[in-house]
Amino acid sequence: MKTNKPIHAVLLATLLLSVSASVLADTYIYAGKLITSADSKLHSDKTVIVKDNKILEVKDGKVKGGDSDRFIDLSDSTLMPGLMDMHTHLSFQNEGPSSYMKRYTNNEADYAIESVTFAEKTLMAGFTLVRNLGDIANETVALRKAIDRGTVVGPRIYTSAKSIATTGGHADPSNGMSSNLMGDPGPRDGVINGVAEARKAVRQRYKDGADLIKITATGGVLSVAKNGQNPQFMKDELEAIVQTANDYGMTVAVHAHGKEGMKRAILAGVDSIEHGTYMDNEIFRLMRKHDVFYVPTILAGNFVAEKAKIDGYFPAIVRPKAAAIGPLIQSTFARAHENGVMIAFGTDSGVSAHGDNAKEFELMVEAGMSAMDAIRSATLNTAKLLKIEDTLGTVEPGKFADLVAVKGNPLDDITLLQNIQFVMKDGVVYKQ
Ligand SMILES: [Zn+2]
Repeated sequence: MKTNKPIHAVLLATLLLSVSASVLADTYIYAGKLITSADSKLHSDKTVIVKDNKILEVKDGKVKGGDSDRFIDLSDSTLMPGLMDMHTHLSFQNEGPSSYMKRYTNNEADYAIESVTFAEKTLMAGFTLVRNLGDIANETVALRKAIDRGTVVGPRIYTSAKSIATTGGHADPSNGMSSNLMGDPGPRDGVINGVAEARKAVRQRYKDGADLIKITATGGVLSVAKNGQNPQFMKDELEAIVQTANDYGMTVAVHAHGKEGMKRAILAGVDSIEHGTYMDNEIFRLMRKHDVFYVPTILAGNFVAEKAKIDGYFPAIVRPKAAAIGPLIQSTFARAHENGVMIAFGTDSGVSAHGDNAKEFELMVEAGMSAMDAIRSATLNTAKLLKIEDTLGTVEPGKFADLVAVKGNPLDDITLLQNIQFVMKDGVVYKQ
């Protein structure tokens, strides 16, 4: 063993040298056009200098750096902050009728392995960060760790792990099963009744490695249950969840379609409302007052409304909910935006296909939002919702180098975002 030591030392020195050499070189990215998201302007003719994993400087004109530096020419493109999707389900993807069988045939490992492909697709589509709002058995915690270690290619992940529901509520994993399979899932499985179980479920998620809490405050479209909009938590349960989550530094994201469930959740102090189908002026007012973000997921609404037209695509109990709720979300979004509600971009990908996330931008612009506001909703606003705006969300010195680019100008044609040409995450180029 002793004789090996010098060889190890030489290897180590060589490694250190090559690491420091690659670290020393900076990356100079010349952008014909630049959206920083720090303001609402379209800048042109800028060079963004990246050192290690951070943005060092933004300079006027084309700057190339020294011989050892890397130069990336994006003169025909628009450079932007990495896009962020506040509502994804990276460990599964709806595939029609067979999706409902997976609960009986898939193991946890199947979900974990599938998530690897979906994570890579999401990053390559320009989404350098996602919130994962609901998985099966904490597999997206494992996915996040693997991505952070560099063994899997994917976006930064903030995961809620398994969602929290009430018995028979949206996200009770045993809905629709025969009674001998149904059992009696509890806080560990994300099903609670009463204050003590609510607290326990939050603490369990903290222990499991979740970053935030997701609850299903009303019925939902795709669960095998009749009601898509009734309130499913009591006031004291909601308050117990929010207070416990806050104790552990976690935010609370709320799936909700019906008004009463949204109202109770907002008053309990949650951070975001997802889908929000039946929001009205009173809800808009409450959201503004309590600084609650709206994460629209228009894409999921459109997707399920389309599929509800196909016989047999959804179970009979799901089909009328998909047909009724799906088409409403885009107009809810339009009204929320008009009423000054803070919007954070989110798609519910996993309902629609992973990698199609940017279609949401097109639906937002179609509903009356400017292309610049839509882009800022997926960069600056998402960072604010996650409370990470000091490190991500804009192209400014000191921020992490998460950058994407498209050919042409997305302010003229928002569909260009569906064809991302360049992706950098944490200073590493994944697509060029
Ligand atoms: Zn969802």
